[in-house]
Amino acid sequence: MSFTLAIVGRPNVGKSTLFNRLVGKRLALVDDQPGVTRDLREGAARLGDLRFTVIDTAGLEEATDDSLQGRMRRLTERAVDMADACLFLIDGRAGVTPVDEVFAELLRRRGTQVILGVNKAEGRVGESGVLEAYGLGLGEPLALSAEHGEGMAELAVMLAPLIEAAEDASEEAETDVDLGEDEDEGRVITAEKPLQIAIVGRPNAGKSTLINQIVGEERLLTGPEAGITRDSIAVPFIWDGVPMKIFDTAGMRKKARVQEKLEKLSVSDGLRAVKFAEVVVVLLDAAIPFEQQDLRIADLAEREGRAVVLAVNKWDLEEHRQDKLRDLKEAFERLLPQLRGAPLVTVSAKTGRGLDRLHAAILKAHDVWNRRVPTATLNRWLTGMLEAHPPPAPGGRRIKLRYMTQVKTRPPGFVVMCSLPEKLPESYSRYLVNGLRESFDMPGTPIRLHMRSQA
Ligand code: GDP
Ligand code: GDP
Repeated sequence: MSFTLAIVGRPNVGKSTLFNRLVGKRLALVDDQPGVTRDLREGAARLGDLRFTVIDTAGLEEATDDSLQGRMRRLTERAVDMADACLFLIDGRAGVTPVDEVFAELLRRRGTQVILGVNKAEGRVGESGVLEAYGLGLGEPLALSAEHGEGMAELAVMLAPLIEAAEDASEEAETDVDLGEDEDEGRVITAEKPLQIAIVGRPNAGKSTLINQIVGEERLLTGPEAGITRDSIAVPFIWDGVPMKIFDTAGMRKKARVQEKLEKLSVSDGLRAVKFAEVVVVLLDAAIPFEQQDLRIADLAEREGRAVVLAVNKWDLEEHRQDKLRDLKEAFERLLPQLRGAPLVTVSAKTGRGLDRLHAAILKAHDVWNRRVPTATLNRWLTGMLEAHPPPAPGGRRIKLRYMTQVKTRPPGFVVMCSLPEKLPESYSRYLVNGLRESFDMPGTPIRLHMRSQA
């Protein structure tokens, strides 16, 4: 029996859209199976390394207003009974509605495992919806965009331990998805697969100059592969013995060949580059570093969970380098605290100076991004952290953090079993994340830490 996730929520929140994204074409219609309602769809879902069954409670749109509440309730209850866990979706743009509260109440009373998803949260529009969703009392809400595929990695992080637990529970289960096996697979793949990098930054920062300097004009023109979009290519090359692939947009390429008039790198190009890459190099112009656009793209790369390297270009033009470097580091810490510890290197795309430092920084960032801490080590560490600085005791009940495991890499994601996750202050999570960075040498990489309540 495979792990089953039910997607529930009121009509129009995006359940079918998410279902389709998870299932793709691997749809199994269960309409004519006895005992299963026609309103439930079932499919084989795939999310990263995870495989599970998903059921969708769509088909309520046809319901008349009168019968809607009742049908919705029955359908949801049936789905909940069939499933190991529920993904309860709300619409982040609409916020929490009274109907959502009815659902939340129903789910709470049934005592099922619930992941609360705030959908339609692409970009930042869903932020207030996410905050409101805390009020439903179903734990930490997860910002999602079913349509744009955002938040899928985070969803995988939350599902992985549930699936693992379900599979451990059913001893007769086939030897299917095994995290240990994955780990080995991952290592082999990273050793063989080219490291994917992207260079992003404001127009004129020197991106095409840098790409040319790294890749070399000749190799840039030979053997480009079809990119992920019509306008982009992924250029394979070897940099100091390391196979890499660099994301290049048509805009950069054209400019590199014929000195054409400045073409602005559009926001969507930057976005695509970030999505493509494992390591994102944010290229700053030393004369005008940390402009709004630089900050936005660096933040985006962090939120997308990419390894980030900051490279300050046109260093050949700088005269007071010591002072400048100190100012840059200070500005970096102040303006991009979410990337604390990420490498900052100075380069000259024009002369090629500093490219060895950039190379080393990319490899280091990639390595950290792939790091995995064994569970036993992690729990010894957690015990020490709890002793050094115990969690608060709101209303006299001390919050207990009992067990911790790393559920994914690229970037590192951890789940902590917590007695009152909704009561644990953000500052305590930060304390743990900063501790992880220090104790396990994981500077600069995005770290995802999720508190799960213990059933
Ligand atoms: P369901 O009734 O819950 O199954 O909802 P649907 O999947 O049919 O989606 C309802 C509407 O919301 C459709 O118009 C979708 O295109 C739209 N939608 C779904 N997911 C997203 C999303 O992530 N962002 C935005 N902006 N719209 C979405
Ligand atoms: P892009 O828009 O980010 O691709 O930037 P380009 O690569 O087209 O560079 C913009 C301008 O900055 C060009 O005139 C380059 O010659 C110049 N440039 C790029 N890198 C350097 C550098 O390291 N030093 C100096 N002095 N100029 C540079």
